[in-house]
Amino acid sequence: MRSPSIAPFSPELARTHAEGAPALPAEAAGIYVHVPFCAHICPYCDFNTYSGQDALVPRYVAAVEQEIEASAPLLFGRSVASVFLGGGTPSLLSPDEIGRILGACRSSFDLQRDAEVTLEVNPNGVDAAYFANLLETGVNRVSIGAQTLSRRGLRTLGRLHEAEQVGAAVQAARTAGVANLSLDLLFGWPGQTPDAFGRDLDTVLASAVGGSLPEHLSLYSLIVEPGTPMADAVARGVLVPPDDDAAADLYELAIDRLANAGWAHYEVANWSRESGLGSRHNRLYWRNGDYLGIGAGAHGHVGGRRWMNHLLPKTYCQAIERGEDARSNVETIPPPTAMGETMMLGLRLLEDGVDAARFAARHGISLDEAFGTAISDLVDLGLLRRSADTVALSRRGLMLANDVCARFL
Ligand code: SF4
Repeated sequence: MRSPSIAPFSPELARTHAEGAPALPAEAAGIYVHVPFCAHICPYCDFNTYSGQDALVPRYVAAVEQEIEASAPLLFGRSVASVFLGGGTPSLLSPDEIGRILGACRSSFDLQRDAEVTLEVNPNGVDAAYFANLLETGVNRVSIGAQTLSRRGLRTLGRLHEAEQVGAAVQAARTAGVANLSLDLLFGWPGQTPDAFGRDLDTVLASAVGGSLPEHLSLYSLIVEPGTPMADAVARGVLVPPDDDAAADLYELAIDRLANAGWAHYEVANWSRESGLGSRHNRLYWRNGDYLGIGAGAHGHVGGRRWMNHLLPKTYCQAIERGEDARSNVETIPPPTAMGETMMLGLRLLEDGVDAARFAARHGISLDEAFGTAISDLVDLGLLRRSADTVALSRRGLMLANDVCARFL
């Protein structure tokens, strides 16, 4: 149900956003919906997520619907090319709840007919009936958080599922007709050897996970974040993660093995089975595009401004229910920061890189005027590749991506 009283933005404010930004206002936007609930908290996790709050879920879903409806003016005149439900564990929501959230998106925004609609799924607790009902809601892409197929790795990571459940989830998704499926794997967990990581990759590439080859793979390097139980265990010497060189070796192992299998390495941490099967939603982030962030702790970025919603689900719900703004802060992005971010994000796209014409249209200044010296230095060092139209990371630059990106910020 629409709730005009909580509208955080008026059409006038939406226009002001567009006027204040030299962005490409006609470009399609995306919507990220955060589901901050998990069955338990994994010891390495520092996401905005909570366990033991099942009773809050119906109230939260209602608040998300209200925030979506109230945010419609922000994307006035623009279409939406992707919706991503991430977490947390969005698959803790029932298909009915997911359907209500997507229904609010459809009734509030110009959702493209072929929009990519992704749901993150944990391998446990899902079956073919769940996936079949999901497809009915309009979800057309599923991202399964496998993390590893090693039993020892799953225990080290404190995950609740077993490797067999990853296979069962993939099989169930395929049985239900999920045609676009991604797997997430983590590498660099304490005790992981190159052999163990290679086995994970080989198992996936041999279609031995649920009997099918996924369309997409995301490989994330485990970062032991301060304040997590895993950081405590590392500090006490109970767990020993690989050092930077060993983690880089694991990354290179993946690059080579997936290249040999013919996969497209289209983004720093993402591969697709074929070109064109990359994540549209994430591509929008890497192009420094506009997206709404809906839900507790979600970040949004529209028309040269970004914001973050209240972190705590209960605080978020209360704000929405009282007709207050769900955002805890709003920032106007200074033009030099926006240009640096376009570079930092765009360089992650290994095939596309940063498009010079697009950069000029977006920022009103050419790539060379903005960053000519830095680009030439990095090309001379063999860290960037330059063509007439684009700037992209070289293989060497990929291994030093953080240092390269730092030159633009
Ligand atoms: S399931 Fe994912 S989001 Fe939830 S606690 Fe574990 S790592 Fe964090």
